[in-house]
Amino acid sequence: MSARDFFHSVMRIGPVQVGTHRDRHGRTKHAAVCTADHCGWSSDYTSRSAATLAARTHRCRIA
Ligand SMILES: [Zn+2]
Repeated sequence: MSARDFFHSVMRIGPVQVGTHRDRHGRTKHAAVCTADHCGWSSDYTSRSAATLAARTHRCRIA
């Protein structure tokens, strides 16, 4: 089971979902995950604002 399965507080910005999850150390992480086919981009951030900014500025390679 991956960390993604614990996603909550999800919001969608374009093709990117931003949600929070806990890492294996119990710390809250803010992840941005692109849901576009064939993109597969995702990254973790320590703050929601950082994850939201990354989601807004993300451009799919295949777009
Ligand atoms: Zn993408």
